[in-house]
Amino acid sequence: MNKAMKCTAGTADQYVLLQVNNLVKHYDSRSGLWGKITGNPGSLVLAVDGVSLTINRGETLGLIGESGCGKSTLGRAILRLHEPTSGSVTFDGTDVTKLDADSLKKMRRRMQIIFQDPYASLNPRKTIEDIIGTALRLQGVAKSSDIRGCVTQLLENVGLKPDHMTRFPHQFSGGQRQRIGIARALALNPEFIVCDEPVSALDVSIQAQVIQLLDDLKRELGLTYLFISHDISVIGYISDHIAVMYLGDIVETGPTKQILTDPQHPYTQALLSAVPRVDGSGTGDRVKLTGDLPSPINPPKGCKFHTRCPYAKDECQLKKPEHHELKNGLTVACHLVTGN
Ligand code: SF4
Repeated sequence: MNKAMKCTAGTADQYVLLQVNNLVKHYDSRSGLWGKITGNPGSLVLAVDGVSLTINRGETLGLIGESGCGKSTLGRAILRLHEPTSGSVTFDGTDVTKLDADSLKKMRRRMQIIFQDPYASLNPRKTIEDIIGTALRLQGVAKSSDIRGCVTQLLENVGLKPDHMTRFPHQFSGGQRQRIGIARALALNPEFIVCDEPVSALDVSIQAQVIQLLDDLKRELGLTYLFISHDISVIGYISDHIAVMYLGDIVETGPTKQILTDPQHPYTQALLSAVPRVDGSGTGDRVKLTGDLPSPINPPKGCKFHTRCPYAKDECQLKKPEHHELKNGLTVACHLVTGN
């Protein structure tokens, strides 16, 4: 792949780009198909239940957790694709949750998303030129006469050919379609991208190529990612820092190396123990994860992990653990970990 190029130049100074503070997203569990109200009154789905995290400019924060733990909802709430219930999202000094519609539209140029299913997210009736060019047109960032040139550049940036722009989504493989999704996300020269399970729908052989492409683009364009996945191997490869999510809460955060080699939270240990190792080395089977993720409609009291944790004690059922910062850079919410 040639070195990726932007239409405009930018700088990539190291500082906090995104600060999420106590973000909450609760849904009415009665909301059904077409917005029809079903089920019992008063039940809330606690999808995101008070999440705080920080991402520095130019870094990738990997967000790991089981399916249904609230990862994707958190990513969408950060971008206000799902309106947060409460809390703040400060992007480059601006609280995104306070922006009016016009200001949010302008901010969306800087904050983009890559979806899990590249086929479902591409309009099958439009050519690739239309799909990518629509974002440029709607945001008014390129003159009509410049759009074809921008689309050409974007396709080259993601390893596709300029003549691909006249084709339709069904004429591409899954990996190529995800490259188109990445090109569309890059069209407005964003600084921050939520990558929402971007390789989960792809064959394993293609996953590595797309992950490498995202990693290359991050370095060449100075991008910042929130990379969401349920696969700790993928997260471990691409992330500078990792946040571990369980049932709407962040339970452990820290530098990737520390999380992978010396995790302190029993849930993180369980996730790592589940990774098969051909030589039998590494984290081994310190904690086995049993049972299913409890429902976010009626989550366990105290530590939400206590119903599956082999170390749970009486206190865990009664009291939610505080986050403690450790000397090795980890922040952990567990009654067994009391800080240094
Ligand atoms: Fe397990 Fe208790 Fe720690 Fe929760 S607080 S992870 S239940 S030991």
